[in-house]
Order: sequence, then structure tokens, then C-alpha cells
Amino acid sequence: MTISGSTSQSEALFSRAKAVTPGGVNSPVRAFKSVGGVPRFIVSAQGAYLTDVDGNRYVDYVGSWGPMILGHDHPAVREAIAGALSTGTSFGAPSPREVELAELVTQLTGAERVRFVNSGTEATMSALRLARGFTGRKFIVKFRGNYHGHADGLLVEAGSGLMTNAEGGLGAAAPSSAGVPEEYAALTLVGEYNDPAALDQLIAERGHEVAAVIFEPVVGNAGVLIPTPEFLAALHRVKEAGVVLIADEVMTGFRLSLNGATGLLGLKPDLRCWGKIIGGGLPVGAYGGRADIMDFVSPQGPVYQAGTLSGNPLAMAAGLATLRELQANPGIYTQLEAYTTRLANGLKGAASSAGVPLTVNHVGSMLTAFFIDTPAVRTYTQAAPSDTKAFARWFQAMLSRGVYWAPSQFESIFISAAHSDTQLNATLEAAQTAFKEVNS
Ligand code: PMP
Repeated sequence: MTISGSTSQSEALFSRAKAVTPGGVNSPVRAFKSVGGVPRFIVSAQGAYLTDVDGNRYVDYVGSWGPMILGHDHPAVREAIAGALSTGTSFGAPSPREVELAELVTQLTGAERVRFVNSGTEATMSALRLARGFTGRKFIVKFRGNYHGHADGLLVEAGSGLMTNAEGGLGAAAPSSAGVPEEYAALTLVGEYNDPAALDQLIAERGHEVAAVIFEPVVGNAGVLIPTPEFLAALHRVKEAGVVLIADEVMTGFRLSLNGATGLLGLKPDLRCWGKIIGGGLPVGAYGGRADIMDFVSPQGPVYQAGTLSGNPLAMAAGLATLRELQANPGIYTQLEAYTTRLANGLKGAASSAGVPLTVNHVGSMLTAFFIDTPAVRTYTQAAPSDTKAFARWFQAMLSRGVYWAPSQFESIFISAAHSDTQLNATLEAAQTAFKEVNS
């Protein structure tokens, strides 16, 4: 952490960016809208650190929103990308690395088939089209505060940036975005996460019309919410009604274990979606699962889905290097969890000595500190009243001390294998002062 305190170069870039890009950013939460202040323009990233254009160096808890589980600029990933670069950047024809990554993903996850796309959004959108094509049904079910990317029918009671940035703000009525016709939104039924009885009832009444239930197996996009065993059981019961169960592992895949949340929680989804880590920091998404369903995808089957850059050789190389590194070092997961638990305990202790109410949810290397006075946060509705103003003050206090937290109350932070005691101690030291500043 080296903080000059100056943000003048970021400010200058932000003004230039606002003149040419909506809101000055290419993805909304990056604009710091809910926490205020100037977004830092990053020029380089190394291990657990980000360096901005003013020369400030931060401990990074965003990890590019999930992909950088090995830390930034990991040598194996860098070398794999460099190796791929020397042989061409895009072929528009099948290439060996696509087969290798698909084989590795099927081996690690038990999915029988996998199709690569370019983002998590494409993965969930394609998986839902597939479920509709396979079942011949129109409706889908998602859960309040879960985010599955920005396809039209999924921007309904969605989490992530929509919890703090959308017009109408928190809990805005469906659809959560302008430009989504009500007719599209009407095909999306919304349930409450961790409410098994409501899901059972919905499926009892409408199950015959429902193509798929899509869910975050551990939610990151309403802040971290952990599923109860009863809710997981209800999710699996939907399969009895012929509904395709889709676990959106874009965030949790290869993060919570080598087999993601599915492995950690013993899930049996029909389909899964991946993104983030599967591309090792380059743009990759994927969906996969049961062969009888996946074989409905074009050109094998009648459900169309395509991509000019899908299976891109650089992106496949980065994904392969990342997953191979994780496979070769499974101890990483224990290390990540230990760091995260110590961080959670340290934050709780620091908040409590400063008299700031805080509920910390964490699993594996995902964590959210909710600024709320309640013993447990399990649902979107329980998370929503968090004190976003107190969070914003804390966020700024941390940033000014060189800790780059996720710039929204309703996000997970991500720990990487490059985080060690050095970063943990510095973070907790910063947190002790930052919590005191929340109330001052
Ligand atoms: N699903 C989940 C669970 C996500 O967290 C995200 C992105 N944060 C997406 C889908 C969309 O992925 P992408 O931003 O790559 O389109």
C-alpha cells in the first residue's frame, strides 16, 4: 500500500471518459455511484495489488469481480497467454485449446458437455434458451436479488449494480431496467431466496409452464447470502416437475472448490453456467451439464447459439492455465478460506470496538460485511435495509488507507491466493480506524 492521496489523474481521466462513454465507465458499479468519490483508473495489477494512474497502490479485494483467484499477473497465466499470442489471436475455426479446456471442465465438474461463450451473461442467456427449447415451456424462475447478467428476461428484481444504481433504487419493481418490455419480464417469475415453501408453492401452481429455475448457489450479488439446506432441497425438487435446474456458477465456479458450489454443497443441477475464473482474466463464459439437454444446442440440435470469438485461443489459454494451477494446488482453497475467516473475525472485532453494527457473511473466499444491526442476513429482503451511507463512509476511509474494497454494499469481495498475512494485517489495521470514522 502506497498512498499519495492524489487522485488528480483519475479525476482527469474520469472527465474525459464521461464525455465519450455513458457515465464514464463500461460497467456501472465501476463508477463508484453508490459510494461517491472518483473511481480510480487502474494502470497495472500485480499479485494482491492494484496501482492507479496517480501511483496509489491498493490491496485489491475486487479481483476483477472474481476471475483473479490466483492473483494478478500470475506467471503461469501470463506465459500461457504469451504462448498463445505468438501463434495468432483468433481463428474462427476449432482449435486444440478449446478441446483441452472443455475436457478439463468436464473432468473437474462432472458436466457431460460444455459450450464456450464470451461472458457470464451469454452463458445464462444461452442456458435459458436451451432449457426452453428442451422443455417446450416459456416461463423461468429466478430469485430476488440474484443477478445472472444483463439479458432482458433476467433484469427482473436483479441484484448487483441494480440494487444500488437503478432508477427507483433498492427493491425497484420488476423489470429492474428501462428498455425491458413488460412482456419479457412477465415470462420471469420471481421467488424469494431461502424461502423453500414459496418455491414449492410456485412450482405446484405453475411448474408445468416453467422451463427452468436459475439460481446463484451462493449469492454474491445481493452481498453474500448462504443457502439453507431446506432451500437447496426445494430447488432440487423442481426437477420432479420436469423443470431444468440451472446453477449459475459464474461467480462460485472454481472459486468455492474445484467443482464450485456444486462440489462444496453437493448440488445436482441439470445445467451450470460459468464465467470469470474459467477465463483466467480473459473474456470467457460457458454453460454445460447433462448430455441429453446440451445436445439440443446447435449444430447438434435445434437451439441456436453462436459466437465469432467463442473459444478464442488467448482466452482458452488463460482459462486452461488458471484451472490447471488450481488443480495442481488444491490447498489454495484451504488457504483462501483461512484468510477469509480471519478477515471476517477481524472486521467483526474492529466494528464492535467502534460501536458499528456489522453482520459478516462469508464462505470460501467470498465475503460481504453488511452494515446492519441484525444477527443474520439470509435473504435479499433482510440485506436491503443495510446502511449504505455508513458503508460508503467506511469504503472511502478504507480506500484512503490503501484498501480497495468492492464499491457497493451489495457485492461480494474476493480473496486471491496472492493475499497473505501482510495484506491481512494491513487491511485490519486500516479497518480499525475506518470503522471509527463511520460514526464520526
Ligand atoms: N451470473 C452471476 C452470478 C454473476 O455474478 C455475473 C457477473 N457478476 C453474471 C452472471 C454475468 O457475467 P458477465 O458480467 O461476465 O456477463
